[in-house]
Amino acid sequence: QAKITGKNRYTFFNQEMMNQFNEKIEVETIIRKAISNEDFNLVYQPIINTHTGDVASFEALLRLKDKNISPAIFIPIAERSDLILSIGKFVIKEAVRQLSQWKKEGRELKPIAINLSPKQLYDNNLLKFLKGVLDEYGVELSYLEIEITERVLVKNQVETIKILNQLKDLGVSLSLDDFGTGYSSFNYLTFIPVDKIKLDKCLIDKFLEMENIKVMDSLITLAHSLKLKVVAEGIERMEQYKRLRKGNCDYIQGYLFSKPLKLNEVEKIYYKNFLQK
Ligand code: C2E
Ligand code: MG
Ligand code: MG
Ligand code: MG
Repeated sequence: QAKITGKNRYTFFNQEMMNQFNEKIEVETIIRKAISNEDFNLVYQPIINTHTGDVASFEALLRLKDKNISPAIFIPIAERSDLILSIGKFVIKEAVRQLSQWKKEGRELKPIAINLSPKQLYDNNLLKFLKGVLDEYGVELSYLEIEITERVLVKNQVETIKILNQLKDLGVSLSLDDFGTGYSSFNYLTFIPVDKIKLDKCLIDKFLEMENIKVMDSLITLAHSLKLKVVAEGIERMEQYKRLRKGNCDYIQGYLFSKPLKLNEVEKIYYKNFLQK
């Protein structure tokens, strides 16, 4: 209990809270500046077809230029304000612009997946914005994938499902990201209109370390019976990859194959330029 004395009136607001508060304000200031100076860029992590070993798609991950602040830190702060909406628009536009650039250069296109936060999903302008950007750059909708997390289901499930179906009708493909970190009710999987589920690193680590591997196999089988593809995230070791391949997991993503790459690295390593051959 805080003592409200004349001298120590604010002791309930302790130093640690003060530090956290200042940190948030600082990060928020950095985000605001980054938005007005366009100081963001995307890095791309390949997602591999487990059975063929080919790159199936890329996940676009946001970075703050010249700053070493993880999106795991700054995205939640941006989500608390409407800053996430501007950031989200940048991500959509940049990913689609990149696809159109690769198309122009005659490169073999692979879908790009972007992460969408719940606030963006509930933004009334989202569909119009998406359509506008895809039209402007002349990119087919099937090359854009959208990753959402089950946090979008917390609000209003009926409304959420409606929006997700509208996105699907547009032609974009949907993935349920971070499966295994929240409630992850299997029940969701029967009605949420997604094409893929992405098993989070913590779930993979938990199951692959223990004899519980059979649960992982069953989860993959269940997903397949619901016509869902399965991506395993955070794969760092060969044994993990081999075991997941044996368990029929469709795609893997992780440092074992590649870290998220800068644009020039992606182009150098994966993006064959047919025109230049
Ligand atoms: P996520 O969408 O689950 O992305 C996967 C994260 O795991 C990425 O972290 C990636 O770099 C990391 N990762 C991939 N493979 C491995 C591995 O083998 N080992 C380990 N330890 N990590 C691996 P990153 O880029 O730091 O992003 C963190 C989170 O921030 C993302 O998790 C996503 O939730 C969020 N985020 C990133 N970019 C965006 C964005 O543009 N919009 C939104 N709304 N969220 C974003
Ligand atoms: Mg993701
Ligand atoms: Mg994920
Ligand atoms: Mg994750």
